[in-house]
Amino acid sequence: MPVTPVTPVTPVTPVTPVTPVTPVTPVTPVTREELTMILRQLFDTESSTYTYLIGDPATRRAALIDPVKEHLERDLRLIGELGLTLTLVLETHVHADHVTAAGELRERTGARTVGSAKGAPCISDPVADGDTLELGALRIEVLGTPGHTDDGLSYRIGDNVFTGDTLLIRGCGRADFQNGDASALYDSLVGTLFVLPDHTVVWPGHDYKGMTSSTIGEEKRHNPRVAGRTRAEFVAIMNGLGLPPPRKLDVAVPANRACGRVEL
Ligand code: FE
Repeated sequence: MPVTPVTPVTPVTPVTPVTPVTPVTPVTPVTREELTMILRQLFDTESSTYTYLIGDPATRRAALIDPVKEHLERDLRLIGELGLTLTLVLETHVHADHVTAAGELRERTGARTVGSAKGAPCISDPVADGDTLELGALRIEVLGTPGHTDDGLSYRIGDNVFTGDTLLIRGCGRADFQNGDASALYDSLVGTLFVLPDHTVVWPGHDYKGMTSSTIGEEKRHNPRVAGRTRAEFVAIMNGLGLPPPRKLDVAVPANRACGRVEL
């Protein structure tokens, strides 16, 4: 009798392992806080100086504009509380009335210090009119605004401009020391700042009357030194101010040229 051939066993198809479903990350609703540039105005009562903390809400990168040495701990605490990382320290000019915290902030945080190529030789990144800086998703435009000093810069971020001592609220910085030049200051005010859109918010480097911010349109209409004035009238006003020298001039200028080192 012939042997019936054994039917070969069909090999079992291995079971394809089920790919686990990746859980969907819940979408966090975008809050107003995440969309709006972080901006804090800080004040030094001794020199009436404003320091500004700017933060990019998306990357949490931050910049300080014109930090004052005596307030270094205050500023670092706020940066920590807001969950920010300091990456830039911006100087509007070499100051004569307070000592900068820029150098020490660079040492403590690794932030880059930025200022005019005509200013302090110790800065990390010298910049000039027309340069741009990035702070996360924020774009910072550098505007050359000499006149109060020859190294004056303003920084524009969207609808905000940080004017240092070039444009103050209803005033402007003096132009009688540190290579100041009233005619150059007129050009910076009228030719560089007053051509910005009227709604641009002006954040000054100082205020002595309790004012905090203004707009370009407001200053074009109401700034008594420059509104409706010719260049000659402006220069005559500036040359006739007769102000005493700033209290810290002899200490602050050499210290600030060394990014805040006062032991020189
Ligand atoms: Fe100044």
